[in-house]
Amino acid sequence: PKRPVALLGLGDMGTALARTWLAAGYPLTVWNRTPAKAAALACEGAVVAASPADAVAAADLVVLCLLDDASVGQTLEGVDVSGKDLVDLTTGTPGEGRERAAWAAARGARFTDGGIMGTPVMMGVPASGAYVFYSGSRALFDAHRAALEVPAGARFVGEDPGHAALYDVALLSAMYGMFAGISHAFALIEAEDIAPKDLAPLLSEWLGAMGFFVDNVAERLTSRDFTTGVVSNLAMQVAAAPTLLRTAAEQGVGTELLAPYLDLMRRRLDADRQARSGEDTTGAITLLTRQVVSS
Ligand code: NDP
Repeated sequence: PKRPVALLGLGDMGTALARTWLAAGYPLTVWNRTPAKAAALACEGAVVAASPADAVAAADLVVLCLLDDASVGQTLEGVDVSGKDLVDLTTGTPGEGRERAAWAAARGARFTDGGIMGTPVMMGVPASGAYVFYSGSRALFDAHRAALEVPAGARFVGEDPGHAALYDVALLSAMYGMFAGISHAFALIEAEDIAPKDLAPLLSEWLGAMGFFVDNVAERLTSRDFTTGVVSNLAMQVAAAPTLLRTAAEQGVGTELLAPYLDLMRRRLDADRQARSGEDTTGAITLLTRQVVSS
């Protein structure tokens, strides 16, 4: 028999998670601050708890999927969580993950933080590629692995309870950089006789091809060798930047999505040239990683 799961939080994501556990045959107890959101799930077989304390009492595995860490604190205030296994799928910072882990430890609970890489419609759909980063108690993760793998894939990234959030936010931050570029690219063709659908496949293909930079940057950051095997040096890229900015001006497109990155490249090159006179041969993206870290 499958062990019961308690789930606190029935927003878009919590509701999607709940349906996957019900579909997989897990006894599920749910709680939501606004009770109306639990009505449909009750018809589908979930037990609706009247309070967070009742929900927590219903299962060893207690999953939280609330708006933010503050709502987790409010929801569990005064609730006895001793002996429970808390899995917090609420998005938060690494610091919040660590503090929540200490909070749980002080109350006698095991704690694993989670960062969901996927949207509600991807939950329970193995082919969607969605997964969750987990970090914190390995013993908790191992004990409940089968249940945790029901909504999406599970990737344990270490016992530091801050690391699930850190991986999560690192990927999300990269995604927003990509979104900025995609928005700008489509804006450039907006006033032209080019169909967005004609640009789309070219853009997807190009972003995929440029994905190799991820490994390239990782290798340089690991070897600390920033001078050999450079693909496109910084000075060349800084020289090319005005072309990108002038093209935006010609097309009547704002540069706010592009200018910060180009400006960072220029500042890094200036600093490099002040530090040492000579040829600039260093790789751009790697240097910018260091520039961002130090600014
Ligand atoms: P929703 O806005 O749909 O739901 C928010 C939930 O938090 C509701 O259940 C809401 O209760 C509850 N809540 C808010 N404030 C409080 C509070 N002070 N006390 C108790 N409960 C509270 O968000 P989602 O379900 O989409 O997201 C939930 C978490 O999942 C977030 O951390 C989000 O970042 C994360 N996530 C979401 C993804 C998505 O695509 N949706 C993707 C990846 C992660 P009520 O119904 O009463 O308002």
